[in-house]
Amino acid sequence: MVMRIINYTNVCVAQCDYCAFYVLPNQDGGYVLSREDVFAKIDELLELGGDLVGFNGGFNPKLPLDYYCDLFASVRERYGDRVEFYALTVAEFVFLADRAKLSFADAAARLRDAGVHWVTGGGSEILTEDFRKRHAKWKYTVADYFDAQRAIVESGMRTTATMVIGFDETLDERIEHLERTRDFQDACLRDGYDGLFSFLCWTYKPYGTAFGGREISPREYWRHMALSRIFLDNVRHVRTSVLTQNEDAFRALEYGADDFDLPIEDEVTQKAGATVDLDLESLLAIPRRLGYRVEYRHAARPPALAGS
Ligand code: SF4
Repeated sequence: MVMRIINYTNVCVAQCDYCAFYVLPNQDGGYVLSREDVFAKIDELLELGGDLVGFNGGFNPKLPLDYYCDLFASVRERYGDRVEFYALTVAEFVFLADRAKLSFADAAARLRDAGVHWVTGGGSEILTEDFRKRHAKWKYTVADYFDAQRAIVESGMRTTATMVIGFDETLDERIEHLERTRDFQDACLRDGYDGLFSFLCWTYKPYGTAFGGREISPREYWRHMALSRIFLDNVRHVRTSVLTQNEDAFRALEYGADDFDLPIEDEVTQKAGATVDLDLESLLAIPRRLGYRVEYRHAARPPALAGS
């Protein structure tokens, strides 16, 4: 896939200590993108040959649920199925539902009815209560995270699993994250849902963050990808992160990954040190040199929403 993360606002009240992206409400430098800004970014993505957008922004208390529903409906109306989009991460979804005083089921129905097909599991980092208390205590609880994921799955929209490693998490915490993800997927499959489409893991970028630290090695990332592939044998696809690992991401194909996207923008990780390479052909030459045949994957409309 070729994708662009559209960071529609950088205003956020969550104050995660590993984030270099956010500003607090009323601080200088805060922004909210207009609909025209969003369209211009999507048009540029289409020109570059991409067709997948991920909307990701802060927990902006000034943006009501209607802002999101109007934005997503206008994107769907303008582009139809020419563009697919991951509307929000689960973390933002939990915040929106709370702000709107809606159950997760009702919030999911509002998004789906506005033309949303996909949400991502983003904002999960490490899914243990201890980790959340250490680094992101105003974000959500782990129980909320999975309750929200379940409501999204039951609404007919699709969702994914994500994970970020390289903070100060212990190996036990990494395993707990994988175990909870696997248990969630088992429950979905048992109840007749497809559940999580894929699992994407990326690495923490420490530059400009309050928490600081240093990056883990590519080898540690690859080994974690192998472990994830083995552990999550009930999730079909494992996606490697070109955004945070650049050319080293493709070696993860030899460690069990079978999916990747080429990102053209993500301010959140770029602010913390990630770099984006727009020479897509040179990037694709790397997996080809490793002996892989590369195919473009379109993020399609989920079967449950066919014809909607
Ligand atoms: S990681 Fe997301 S939720 Fe946390 S402070 Fe940054 S923008 Fe806000």
